[in-house]
Amino acid sequence: MSDGPLNVLDVLVIGAGISGLTTAFRLARGGLRVAVVEAAGRVGGAIETHTDGPWRFELGPNTVVESHETVGRLIRDAGLDGEKVVAAPAARRRYLYKDGWLVPLPGGPGSFLATRLFPPSAKLRLLKEPWIGRPPEGTEESIATFVRRRLGQPFLDYAVGPFVSGVYAGDPERLSMRWAVPRIWSLEHDHASLIRGALSRRKGPRPGGAMISFRDGLEALPLKLAAEVGDVRTGVAVQRIVRAAGGYRADTSAGPIDAKRVVLAVPADVAARLLDEVTAGASRLFDQIPYAAVAVLAIGWRRADVGHPLDGFGFLAPRKEGLRSLGCLFPSELFPDRAPEGHVALAAFAGGRTDPEIVAWDEDRIATTLIDELRGPLSLRGEPAYRLVRRWPRAIPQYEVGHGRFVDRAREIEQALPGLHIGGNFLGGVSVPGCIQGGTELAAQMLRG
Ligand SMILES: Cc1cc2nc3c(=O)[nH]c(=O)nc-3n(C[C@H](O)[C@H](O)[C@H](O)COP(=O)(O)OP(=O)(O)OC[C@H]3O[C@@H](n4cnc5c(N)ncnc54)[C@H](O)[C@@H]3O)c2cc1C
Repeated sequence: MSDGPLNVLDVLVIGAGISGLTTAFRLARGGLRVAVVEAAGRVGGAIETHTDGPWRFELGPNTVVESHETVGRLIRDAGLDGEKVVAAPAARRRYLYKDGWLVPLPGGPGSFLATRLFPPSAKLRLLKEPWIGRPPEGTEESIATFVRRRLGQPFLDYAVGPFVSGVYAGDPERLSMRWAVPRIWSLEHDHASLIRGALSRRKGPRPGGAMISFRDGLEALPLKLAAEVGDVRTGVAVQRIVRAAGGYRADTSAGPIDAKRVVLAVPADVAARLLDEVTAGASRLFDQIPYAAVAVLAIGWRRADVGHPLDGFGFLAPRKEGLRSLGCLFPSELFPDRAPEGHVALAAFAGGRTDPEIVAWDEDRIATTLIDELRGPLSLRGEPAYRLVRRWPRAIPQYEVGHGRFVDRAREIEQALPGLHIGGNFLGGVSVPGCIQGGTELAAQMLRG
């Protein structure tokens, strides 16, 4: 490709969620001329903090785990270290809903042996795990099939299933072990056993990291990144991308924008549409990536009317227990300044891949249903002091069995169209740290080549 006119951008990033902003920030720091266009009137995408007087709620992710060094580095380089808040130590305790009660998840071997979450036969069966064989090379299993085979049904119902609801709002019968939880999948793949693999990894660097937010909520991060990038145009929707002299042209609601290179950091269905013409239909496959719908209920309650000590991160509700709620977090117990004096802030979730209908209900019905379910396990009296429902019809992309074909298609498109890059949470990880890691690596690769 020949060089375009001098005023052409080096890179146009489409989508000002955490993926696009991370890449744009790193490219701008690398000396490139970068602009970001965002269809919505605000930056942040799924990261959305709602502040109303003394109340502060997260309507998307509540916390970010510093699970990868790129996360801490991004926060530091963006100048946000001083705003960071680390979750209270109580966040390590997590509850599971069982038979109407909240039961703490075991935190070590002693509490594991004592817990009533799993029957003695299931605990004994764990001893066999290191000797269970691997499936033939190339077999792609769902999370449910994998867990039943290696650990047994009770661990699917009361450990892995709720975890999958918490992260993906997903269905373990459909999510791919290989693509949705690659770190755990690789324990079997590399060590032939989860237990042996976990023991051997304990000798290396420990995974995990601090669970964090910011004084003003998580949205502080995309806001600061956008301010650092400078040229971020909100309320500008890209309609299609075509080839142009020296690179690409994006037709947008505010007119065409030319750039030598383009990064897509938009949801899968949008990527499918924007690239349809330039890929001669190859991008349409992305439209098949399923998404889970999620409803978030932010609730404030008088502390004196809450019987439960709320001494933890929150609870998850196994699907077997029959609640519509997927779980509830206790954000005011983790971070400062989330609720007025004498009150607590809670966040309940519903919907997901196994219960999409509830997200289409009217907000009042969603709120009253979830609040009624919380009354028992949290010993709530009276009525909420604050209430807000946020619906996400396409909340989280699902890495289901066969997800590899989407990853392959993205790489084929990138090879056929040099200078066009596909990022975002539908390929390289759905968590905020996953998006930051993916966005950072993409920028590094672009700065090299
Ligand atoms: C309710 C909820 C709870 C979550 N909880 C957690 C959690 O606790 N921890 C965690 O790590 N992760 C969590 N996640 C996941 C995580 O927040 C997201 O995966 C991540 O923020 C996605 O970032 P992204 O930039 O890839 O995509 P998005 O944030 O979706 O950004 C894409 C952007 O593209 C824009 N766009 C769309 N179309 C166009 C167009 N035509 N032109 C220009 N722009 C366009 C959109 O408006 C959007 O701003 C949660 C997600 C949700 C929804």
